[in-house]
Amino acid sequence: AYLDRIAAEDEVLGAYLHVDAEAALARAGEIDAARAAGEELGPLAGLPVALKDVFVTEGVPTTSGSRILEGWRPPYDATVAARLKDAGTVLLGKTNMDEFAMGSSTENSAYRPARNPWDTDRIPGGSSGGSSAAVAGSLAPWALGTDTGGSIRQPAAVTGLVGHKPTYGSVSRYGLIAFSSSLDQAGPMARTVLDAAVLHEAIGGHDPRDSTSIDAAMPVLTEAARRGAEGDLSGLRVGVVRELGGEGHTDGYEPGVLARVAETVALLESMGAEVREVSCPSFDLALPAYYLIAPSEASSNLARFDGMRFGLRVGDDGTRSVDEVMALTREAGFGPEVKRRIILGTYALSAGYYDAYYGQAQKVRTLISRDFTAAFDDVDVLVSPTTPTVAFPLGARVDDPLAMYAADLCTLPASLAGLPAISVPVGLSEGLPVGFQVMAPALADDRCYRVAAAVE
Ligand code: GLN
Repeated sequence: AYLDRIAAEDEVLGAYLHVDAEAALARAGEIDAARAAGEELGPLAGLPVALKDVFVTEGVPTTSGSRILEGWRPPYDATVAARLKDAGTVLLGKTNMDEFAMGSSTENSAYRPARNPWDTDRIPGGSSGGSSAAVAGSLAPWALGTDTGGSIRQPAAVTGLVGHKPTYGSVSRYGLIAFSSSLDQAGPMARTVLDAAVLHEAIGGHDPRDSTSIDAAMPVLTEAARRGAEGDLSGLRVGVVRELGGEGHTDGYEPGVLARVAETVALLESMGAEVREVSCPSFDLALPAYYLIAPSEASSNLARFDGMRFGLRVGDDGTRSVDEVMALTREAGFGPEVKRRIILGTYALSAGYYDAYYGQAQKVRTLISRDFTAAFDDVDVLVSPTTPTVAFPLGARVDDPLAMYAADLCTLPASLAGLPAISVPVGLSEGLPVGFQVMAPALADDRCYRVAAAVE
């Protein structure tokens, strides 16, 4: 049924970069046969899933949305892909994304933009916009995305889905094509909080192949989602972050978004939560700090795309040096936003500027973490809008990087602090979905699921 939906709708939605219907049907057939033979099956046996094209998948084309990896078939599976395979899922395909996960609209995909199923003239968010378009358009029941500065939560918010960025280090990054290694985190995108929890539990947990993987037990997320759905939040202390759409900080926020968020906060209160306003002054600096740190790490991570090891190679005609081939390959293979980030990052890391830019941004990152720590002395979760606006029209921000970056205002603080944060749909503004963000202390992902399930 999902393959039929893809055949009918994906030309317009642009949700997928790669679909192999034959392979998916063959795999589903194998699982059916195993079931018929009475073999023991994984917990998600036969369930289709879509993976953002940032995850390497054995033998399945993986591009990270870039021309520089066109045609590359990785020789191994990312840990999360392997875990989903072991659980018995059927891979529907690889979803569209902003090139190397840099963007908020999927318009930076080197292949084609993805579109929002609610209004195909609007963006489905990014960078995991193929995943959000696929799930919101019923071209997949659920999908994995990655979130470096908001790329799971923002696309989920603007397409009416649930999207969770796990605690940094709680889901393996092994086989996730790196954008900004200290921020990147994989997570679930689904239609319900419980679905997201099920998918998250299937991919999470310690992985010795990821040196930043946390070796700690995961909270039981499905249990938290079920408990939250009962609608009793007695005793839960909720902090509404002033700097994210509160008084004096409403510039750039749509009134319709703020109204849905205010209603949701009132709903939490009616369920027994104790609500108070919390100030996190350093959050105002999250955007500039992120746009120094993420490009710095990207400039280093993307050095591996040199025309020698992977994918595209340009100008290798026997007359040119390795350096020339490398330069020609990168010139042809990277799109404008990726080049912008590499230049920004290389500059921020360069001798003489390192302390002023990268070093300063790292200090701001520490201040943001301290704001969270102080806030979590008084409250159990922090809440805010997920994005300042509903889905904007395609093309509206492509020529204005700063306007595009502003889509991440609310999601960046949790990213920089490595904390878990979920986006849950809380109604519409002007006919388009609004997302509500719930942030929690490290490894308290269950609180995000509990509160999200309560308001869902
Ligand atoms: N929009 C942000 C950026 O362009 C975040 C992207 C992401 O989370 N991958 O960097």
